[in-house]
Amino acid sequence: MRTKQFKSESKKLMDMMINSIYTHKEIFLREIISNSSDALDKLYFISLTDTKVGIKPDEFKIDIKIDKENRTLTVSDNGIGMTEDELDKNLGTIAKSGSFDFKSENGESENVDIIGQFGVGFYSTFMVSDKVVVESKAYGSDTAFRWTSTGADGYTIEPCERTSVGTTVIMHIKPDTDDEKYSEFLDQYKIRDLVKKHSDYIRHPIVMAFTTKKAVEGKEGEYEDVTEIRTLNSMIPIWKRPKKEVKDEDYNNFYKEKFSDYQDPLTVISSSTEGTATYKALLFIPKHPPFDYYTKEFEKGLQLYSKGVLIMEKCPDLLPDYFSFVKGLVDSEDLSLNISREMLQHDAQLKLIEKTLEKKIKSELEKMLKNEREKYEEFFKAFGVGLKFGVYNDFGMHAEVLKDLLIFKSSKQGKFVTLKEYIEAMPEGQDTIYYACGETEERIDLIPQCDTVKDKGFDILYLTENVDEFCLMMLREYDGKKFMNVCDENLNLDSDDEKKELEAENEAAKDMFSAMKEVLGDKINAVRFTNKLKKHPVCLTSEGGLSLEMEKTLNAMPGAADNKVKAQLVLEISASHKIAEKLKKLYNDDPETLKKYTKLLYGEACLIGGKPIDDPAEHSELVCELML
Ligand code: ADP
Repeated sequence: MRTKQFKSESKKLMDMMINSIYTHKEIFLREIISNSSDALDKLYFISLTDTKVGIKPDEFKIDIKIDKENRTLTVSDNGIGMTEDELDKNLGTIAKSGSFDFKSENGESENVDIIGQFGVGFYSTFMVSDKVVVESKAYGSDTAFRWTSTGADGYTIEPCERTSVGTTVIMHIKPDTDDEKYSEFLDQYKIRDLVKKHSDYIRHPIVMAFTTKKAVEGKEGEYEDVTEIRTLNSMIPIWKRPKKEVKDEDYNNFYKEKFSDYQDPLTVISSSTEGTATYKALLFIPKHPPFDYYTKEFEKGLQLYSKGVLIMEKCPDLLPDYFSFVKGLVDSEDLSLNISREMLQHDAQLKLIEKTLEKKIKSELEKMLKNEREKYEEFFKAFGVGLKFGVYNDFGMHAEVLKDLLIFKSSKQGKFVTLKEYIEAMPEGQDTIYYACGETEERIDLIPQCDTVKDKGFDILYLTENVDEFCLMMLREYDGKKFMNVCDENLNLDSDDEKKELEAENEAAKDMFSAMKEVLGDKINAVRFTNKLKKHPVCLTSEGGLSLEMEKTLNAMPGAADNKVKAQLVLEISASHKIAEKLKKLYNDDPETLKKYTKLLYGEACLIGGKPIDDPAEHSELVCELML
């Protein structure tokens, strides 16, 4: 028999397990039991439609045996079992290699943390064992196989004797050392407590022969050992236990194990409904997006149970896209056990559950927004982008549901505010919601138009994410108040007299502006004077609803190269700035220099507005010419 080597990444993990100083070594038992439970579920599921299985629902079980003499701890199940191939594949490679690769460059100390971070499953047995034997017979197969490994050296697989379908994992517990008392894993009380602690909710019985001393009847003072088979777990799934009986820690541990997260969830939502749809749901909002959350590979969905039996690992129809960050499960009383995926999609019951879950998630988020602002901000940092896309997608169909969950940083209040809070804080005379776009708040503060709005005492929402402006455009207005980009040409905070005066000035300088526009060609739509600038001489504004930021975002999208969009820009010059007089003078005396100044001013406006200069070489030459 040839000894096979573990795949390289598994080998690394194996080494780590063997030498682990991980403080929660005891989790190996939970991992082994949870594998058995999955295997039982799989065979049970088959047994619903296939009478050949021949096991009654209440005969599925997990059996634990302790052999102190031989220092073995054995966990058996009558689940689906593994073929030779599956033994090789499943136990020879670490299952979640994706997440492992992710962290594999870390040093020793962090390595230890991986054990806590990811459900490394079967491999954790090597934290407490120096040899592990797995005997298994797969459902539908005639031959059983034995997988043996003493750790990093690799493993062997050979045929073995076994009549019944299922799997037995025999762990040879390591000898005690000065620091580690591995023998505790051969103690029946310890094992009982561990099962209770980590695996109580497993829905199949976990049984063990338990030996206690009992008084011998009729003989006072005499005791004898009595061995009885005990079921160690209560078998009530955590979501079926009364909420007040379940500790936060229980929910957190359940979440981390079931959904392979290394952090506690941000929030746990448990809900149950009776009536038109009878179900229990246990939902979690994670603290952080999973590493593939913003990729195409990410699949949303909740686990779907029917009367306590898992029928689908990820049911996407239970969650709207904009709440795809939610993890958890739904256990329904009304679904048929062997309903197919195709049928599920059209199941009215499921649609009803989705609708109620959506409402529940929304109301929990609103509660958090109201009562736990810091926590909500943490949530929004992680998943806010998804909500904003939710507003934007499907032509704004879900905008109503989501608009009150949005928060943006406010310039005036220096913190995140909802749209409602923005409006509530508006001073008299303000009837528009102002926002400005840029990469960072600091950059946005440099936009010349911001000064004008701030000077009026109006608040500005900082939009720093690409989707932000699209999201607000989709909303169009909030509570009757329109949104306006401070760079929009329609930004006009002048009084009627001021407006008239400006109009007259623009009219008078009409010819000069035409000459200037000619120099810049189709880069801009027009040149004109404005009152909206305080310190700065120039700025760019956009006409027709497509802002500079939107232009940047749209053109950066995949496939945009051949079909670029262009914001319609206006070069605005401060009417009160000294440069205005200078330009008028040049128009009369020195048209050639006016051309150069026009180019320079346009360059400046681009720089300030965060738009790259079209011809940096020419710009710098013109600047030098002025210097010399
Ligand atoms: P995970 O359980 O996270 O997939 P494990 O390393 O614990 O990772 O197990 C790897 C795979 O081995 C499981 O996905 C399952 O297919 C198989 N397996 C483990 N234990 C059993 C068992 N008792 N019965 C059947 N298959 C099992």
